[in-house]
Amino acid sequence: MADYMATIFPGKIQKIAINANLGCPNRDGTIGTGGCIYCNNASFNPAYAHKSKGSITKQLEDGVAFFSKKQAAYGYLAYFQSYTNTYADTEKLIELYEEALAFPGVVGLVVATRPDCISNTLMEYFAKRFGNLAEENHPYLLVEIGVESTCNETLERINRGHTYECAVSAINTLYNIGVSVGVHIILGLPGESREMMLSHATKISKLPISTIKLHQLQIIKNTPLAALYMQDRNFVQLFTPEEYAHIVADFIRILPGNIAFDRFVSETPPSMLIAPSWGIKPYKFTEMVEGCLKPEKL
Ligand code: SF4
Repeated sequence: MADYMATIFPGKIQKIAINANLGCPNRDGTIGTGGCIYCNNASFNPAYAHKSKGSITKQLEDGVAFFSKKQAAYGYLAYFQSYTNTYADTEKLIELYEEALAFPGVVGLVVATRPDCISNTLMEYFAKRFGNLAEENHPYLLVEIGVESTCNETLERINRGHTYECAVSAINTLYNIGVSVGVHIILGLPGESREMMLSHATKISKLPISTIKLHQLQIIKNTPLAALYMQDRNFVQLFTPEEYAHIVADFIRILPGNIAFDRFVSETPPSMLIAPSWGIKPYKFTEMVEGCLKPEKL
């Protein structure tokens, strides 16, 4: 991902997670209730964001203070991460995004959302502010679309509330207006075989995306999935780290080299995680994947 950012910016870029408290249409009844079966949004936020509950500006101040102790950055991307970050009136969304863009050092946004929740008026704003119709030297925007699976049967099983075709349509529209797109996929969802998981890579490789995030399925406390898992431990087949590293390596082999991997694993705070408990740092896991990709292991 650092290599991908280096093609856009001349120095180190740090993402700062923002919680804009925009809610989710798959929880409030607009699209569904109960949310996706694996979702507990409290697990999304990094430690510094848990402490930062204020305005967008306050959260950016806290994030910059936290990261600048570690390493100087060329610029920051305000990462609208929790819940559905395009779920509000366009005017309100523009106000939030522009507040972030006005913060010193912020060079762009990453907006995580569902594919069925980007209005036409918001697409117009994206095109004019960040895309084909934007002024020169406009800020950067990456819209991160939660695809999760390319199998509609799985999407129904996890109560996702949209189809894969819906995700394809949103991705194509964003690409056509000149906005970079990232996708999020979960490996290990209930009912999915290894072949089905790798078929996600084949289908996604045909889409006009710039980045991808892979996550292993995790059973997180206070989710419908946790209740199903407690009733029946065989409801999902959880990976060992080695099994997961191998499937990630196979996934990488299928995707074209111009799609950047943002991350391979998610790190839920141990206090919220039921299983699998790997205790492996992301950089260590990356080393395991690299080991699987070495020619002698082919
Ligand atoms: S994963 Fe996203 S869409 Fe699903 S319930 Fe959570 S916030 Fe809503």
